[in-house]
Order: sequence, then structure tokens, then C-alpha cells
Amino acid sequence: MTSNYDLRTLTVHAGLKPDPSTGAIAPNIVASSNYTFKPEGVAFSANLNPDLTEMPFFYSRWTNPTVRQLEERMCALESAEAAIATASGMGAVSVLFFGLLKAGDHVIVSDVCYPGVRELCTDILTDLNITCTAVNLSNLSAVREALRPNTRFIHAESPCNPLLRLTDIAGLAAIAREAGVLLSVDSTVATPVATQPIMLGAHIVVHSLTKFINGHGDALGGIICGPKVVIEPIRSKVAIRIGATLSPQSAWLILRGIDSLFARMDMISRNAQHVAESLEKHPLVARVIYPGLASHPQRELAVRQMQNFSGMMIFQVKHNPEGVASAMAADNGLKLVHFAVSLGHQRSNIVMMRTDELMRSTYHLEGSALEEYKSYAGDAIFRLSVGLEASKDIVADLFAVLDRFV
Ligand code: PLP
Repeated sequence: MTSNYDLRTLTVHAGLKPDPSTGAIAPNIVASSNYTFKPEGVAFSANLNPDLTEMPFFYSRWTNPTVRQLEERMCALESAEAAIATASGMGAVSVLFFGLLKAGDHVIVSDVCYPGVRELCTDILTDLNITCTAVNLSNLSAVREALRPNTRFIHAESPCNPLLRLTDIAGLAAIAREAGVLLSVDSTVATPVATQPIMLGAHIVVHSLTKFINGHGDALGGIICGPKVVIEPIRSKVAIRIGATLSPQSAWLILRGIDSLFARMDMISRNAQHVAESLEKHPLVARVIYPGLASHPQRELAVRQMQNFSGMMIFQVKHNPEGVASAMAADNGLKLVHFAVSLGHQRSNIVMMRTDELMRSTYHLEGSALEEYKSYAGDAIFRLSVGLEASKDIVADLFAVLDRFV
């Protein structure tokens, strides 16, 4: 499907082909793991096929018709030539990192990227003699200084989870291109409704499809989108061997979720704006970070780079975060908002994250980097993912607990 269509049209049409045998318009769930084929002249080894999407369907770890439809839709939404769908967001990040890096290489990641990505770097890649430098990617001169002759790529996130710090994607892309390295951007929190990193100069976009893109909290998934010359070798060399393949059932649920992406993100962001503005006025709340607020530390970048401020925010309370978290999770605590991890679903979720715990387990920040982190997060943050409930009900549910601590 051509990119002449508006993004909103592509969310409901891209990747769809009526079934040639029945005319069915809704995608079929092709549950088959294998496919009949004519053996003449077809080499199925991934080593002999630079582009597995050009061969007939063969085995669903290579590629599957329902998963292919999802990949095509995500390509259309991210203005990408090719995509690999995976079993989870971390599956996508791992396939990308193993696909681009070998022993002796160097990669730059954000010092506050999604914890799983930092842990992949520190706990696995280091053992494989791959060096990772964690940098504040909102400081472009720090990125320039971190580049080395063996740097293969920069992996950014905007907004990042959990801090909601933003990365200037166009600025970073210019540095990456000048240095001859790739830029990948995890755009899970933004979604294509807010930001299209490839249009801003990034080479690769990664998503956890588990979050806003599926949007219903009932399927895990991930995707890597980018140029064919980068993506197809990763598929045939790494993705099919790591085997973090997305199931057709999950692909179908995610396609179904994408149909309403624009409508959901529109309502979710309006809800989130109201909730964030209300929390900012609550006497127990010390600070709210949400890209839609005038008080966001990178407000100018948020307005320039995001067409929608999405549904995730963090806030700090002035005292006793442990008590507040226990009260929220107690039987007489929150009635609507679930005290639960994950984000981007139709129902609101909140979770508390202790700064010292995240430093010990994952980020290991010191000095000015730790101070910067604490300026966003204090000693603990509440990370709230706003859903589709009426925003006044979300606010009332949160305030009923927060009021007890004033
Ligand atoms: N990237 C970001 C920004 C995330 O928020 C998450 C999960 O929260 C992931 C990657 C990992 O995704 P998954 O849980 O689907 O593996």
C-alpha cells in the first residue's frame, strides 16, 4: 500500500489483502506451522536466501502469512521498507542487537533506556566482548564524544521508559549519519501517531507491540522496522535462529488493536493531559513529568517532535512513597486503576519504582547522571499509564488514595 494515504487510513488498511479463495476481508489467522511446497529449484536454507520474504511460505519460524500482514502494516506506519515481528519487545531488541553487533563492536545506548535493554547490554553483551556505553542521549555533544571507530549503532528511545526524557531524533540522526553509524529508535511510548522516527532521519524503529500498539493488554509482541538491506540479513542470519517468532494469534490481535490506534491515542492523550494537570495541583504531588505539560523539561522538543503526547506519565509524592504504594495496592485502595506493571492498555495501570533499587539492579548511575535522574524521579516514581476510562474517574480514584496522605 502506498504512503500517499494518510497515516490514519493506513492504520486500518495497510497489509490487508482479501483472501483470494474466500474474499474474506478481515485477516485470517493462519495457524499452520508449515506449508506444502514444490521442491524444484527452491533452496530453503536461510544461508542461501538473502530475502526470506521473497520465497514461498515454508515454515512459520521463517515467516507466516498473518505475521507478514502485521509486518506490512507496521512498515506502512513507520515509512519503512521491511520489518521483522517478534514474540515480544525484548525479542525485537535482542534480535536487532545480535543482528548488528559482533565481538569487538561498540554500541551507544541511552543511560535511562528501558531497563531490559540496559540489562541486555551489561549482563549479556559485555560477556560477548561487545562494549556498550550508556550516554545521556538528550546531550548531543556527549553522544559525539562517546563515538568510537568501532561504534556500530546508537540505540535511542523517545520518550524513554520510565523517565519520559525525550531524545532529539533529528539531531541524533545527523550525528549518526556524519559518523557513518546506524540510529535505531525505540518508539514504543510515542507510537507512530506521535512520532515517525524514520521520517526524522533514524534508520531503524523498534516497538514493543505489547503496549499502545496492541493496546488491549492481551498479547505480547515486538517489531523492528527499517531499510531492506539492514532488516533482511538480520531476519535470515539471526531472527529465525533465535526463534523469538511472533505467533499468528498474537499477530491477529495486534492487527485488530492497530485498527483503533488513532482513536485510542487521541482519547488516551486527552485523558492523560487532564490527569497530569490534575495531579500537578494535588498537594501531595511534588512533580509530574508528562510531555503534554508546559512544565516538561524538554517542552519545546516535545511540541516539535510529538503530534500526540501519548498516555504515560510519572509523578513523585512529597513523602512516604512506600505507604502510598501500599495504600494504592490494598483491598481498600485503588478501585479502577490497577496497581500493575506494563503500560499502553485500555485500562489504566500504575506502579511504583524505587530509584535506589533501579540504580542497583540496572542503571548504576553516579555523579551528575544520578542527579539528573533524581531531578526527574526523586527517591521513587509512580509510573501511570492512562487508559480509556473517563478521565474524571481516573483522577477521583487516584485522589481518593493520595488525599489520605496530605
Ligand atoms: N521498550 C520499551 C520502551 C518498553 O517500555 C518495553 C516494555 O515495557 C520494552 C521495550 C520491552 O517490551 P516487551 O515487554 O514487549 O518485551
